[in-house]
Amino acid sequence: MLTPEHLDVPMAFETLPKVGSMLGTGAVIVIDETVCILKVLIHIAEFFAHESCGRCAPCRIGTRIMKEIVEKIESGNGEKEDIEILIDTANALRGTTFCPLGEASSNPIISSITHFREEYEYHINKNQCMVSEICEEAIPVSSQEASAKILVVDDDPDFVEITRLILESSNYEVISASDGSEGLDVARREKPDLVILDVMMSSILDGLNMSWKMQEDKYLKDIPILMVTSIAHTDYAALFPMDQYIHIDGFISKPVSPDKLLSTIRRMLI
Ligand code: SF4
Repeated sequence: MLTPEHLDVPMAFETLPKVGSMLGTGAVIVIDETVCILKVLIHIAEFFAHESCGRCAPCRIGTRIMKEIVEKIESGNGEKEDIEILIDTANALRGTTFCPLGEASSNPIISSITHFREEYEYHINKNQCMVSEICEEAIPVSSQEASAKILVVDDDPDFVEITRLILESSNYEVISASDGSEGLDVARREKPDLVILDVMMSSILDGLNMSWKMQEDKYLKDIPILMVTSIAHTDYAALFPMDQYIHIDGFISKPVSPDKLLSTIRRMLI
């Protein structure tokens, strides 16, 4: 990422690395001050995580970690140490991957923190975006969102009911289940557009196990999963092996504010 002070830097393979960028294919994206840097980073991080072929562990794991942390910060669930974890993860990709994609994925992370650190810190400290109003308006409400069917799987009836009220107020269709077994049955029958899963439920087939079962089911494996949990993100990350962790498409901590829930779901459905 470059800022106005770099306008005179020549577009060349030799010059751009000196200011923390690279020429790549020569494509240029121009963004102004009304655009949330974290939202831009989510799209970039998703691209690299998707394109990683998985051959090198630093790239396979690192691109997923960076995507998850940027999403976490953008959704208002960030913690102070997340910025340093992002920097450490990005640096771990430098010089350790087989092809340039792995290293290239670290550049937007490092340069965005270098030039727009205050936006990261604002998201973390105030749980909202510096340009949130403009930013939220900029997200198109797709026809998919207007008719999206969302399955909420949680053994806490209060959470299910509150979530139902929030989602129905934005015209989502909501169906629910109280454990993973019932959730799988409902998912196969109703084919939801998105599943909200509580990580830990009292049944044997809790949210984590249900997410794995969904990955094994050819009819369910492409449905995006939003995990919700009461445990801290750092504990959560430590609980799950990364190869299983990557099947989760979004993560938010309870208690979940209506704004966070809706913005996260909206982004996952776009
Ligand atoms: S660095 Fe290249 S080869 Fe290694 S996992 Fe990433 S895309 Fe594959």
